[in-house]
Amino acid sequence: MTTVPPPIDVARLRDEFLELVSIPSLSRHEGTVARRLVGILGAMGASVDVDDAGERVGGDTGNILARFAGNQPAAPPILLSSHMDTVGPAAAIHPVVEGDVIHTDRTSVLGGDDKAGIVAILEAIRVLRERGIPHGDIEVVLTICEESGLMGAKHFDVGRLRARRGIVLDVDGVSELITRAPAANRMSFTVHGLAAHAGMCPEQGLSAIQMAAQAVVGMRLGRVDEETTANLGVIQGGLATNIVPDRVILRGEARSLSVPKLLAQTEHMRQRFEEAIAGRSVRIGDRQHTARVEVEVTRQYECLDVPAGADIVALVTGAARAIGRRCPTRSTGGGSDANVFAARGLEVANLACGMRDIHTVNEWVDVRDLVLTAELVLEIVRLNAAPREAGPAGSIGR
Ligand SMILES: [Zn+2]
Repeated sequence: MTTVPPPIDVARLRDEFLELVSIPSLSRHEGTVARRLVGILGAMGASVDVDDAGERVGGDTGNILARFAGNQPAAPPILLSSHMDTVGPAAAIHPVVEGDVIHTDRTSVLGGDDKAGIVAILEAIRVLRERGIPHGDIEVVLTICEESGLMGAKHFDVGRLRARRGIVLDVDGVSELITRAPAANRMSFTVHGLAAHAGMCPEQGLSAIQMAAQAVVGMRLGRVDEETTANLGVIQGGLATNIVPDRVILRGEARSLSVPKLLAQTEHMRQRFEEAIAGRSVRIGDRQHTARVEVEVTRQYECLDVPAGADIVALVTGAARAIGRRCPTRSTGGGSDANVFAARGLEVANLACGMRDIHTVNEWVDVRDLVLTAELVLEIVRLNAAPREAGPAGSIGR
């Protein structure tokens, strides 16, 4: 049975999106947009709090936690979350409206990643409250520094939440639910060789660049298998063309939906460097100089792996069905705050929210996708408070 979703105020949604994307909010510089959002959420009737994550990551604001009291005390509280920061270029953002499509003048990203998620949350809550639709408590978390290593979410105390489940809105596409996302390792490899004059005594040197090149040749990179990717993204080293380089640093990452595969890929990359330097040494006078490699591996985030039978999946797909839509589940190769919240025990999945061609100056959104996402969020919150026998929400609390 489908229900006609209560009407979303399309003009209000579009105008709010245009206002928010016009406020630049690079990671660690979310202060201006955060102050605006604190004002909006407060005016909507939430109790709003900003945490100290900003001080801890060197930013100009913390994460926002806004609580809306429900009118159905028996309903389980639900978490709705998006991030406030954007990637660059985004020093100034000039949105261009062409019919239903919003893009930029191509000098910056749009920042629909993730303001498309923020406006869907805000508009859904407005309509719920204006129309007196039954709903439980809603906790809105708007994070900082998602784009710089999920730092805002990592510094957010999930112990402050009453909600045990919810959705993060932070993925491209529309009406799709991400239930699987990779774990990721960040790596740095520093190859130490030996400096020497390149013209007079190159045999007294050990070229760090050449050894690094040997390591990279034959390394499995790119799409390693259907669950695993790897990349070396930064290389730095050397001082001058006439000096055998004694040091080069390579930075990269590996990701996989499977942790054993992630560990195997990480070990493969480390092994390639070990092999490239093996036996490389030079004797000068009575001293033997041996090449070495320093490897640093840090787990950036853990997997998101929501079982197909999880309540949050039933809730979201049930909500989509109720408004006559489909919301299939899928995996992604990107991490999000959902990975962090899931690792801390919350049952969260990542709902697509209409952003397109993200992290490029061609980024765009279609206002109709923003409307559909807001309708879906509204129905998710409504269904979450529906009586047990009424539908998928009946399974909640198992
Ligand atoms: Zn994002």
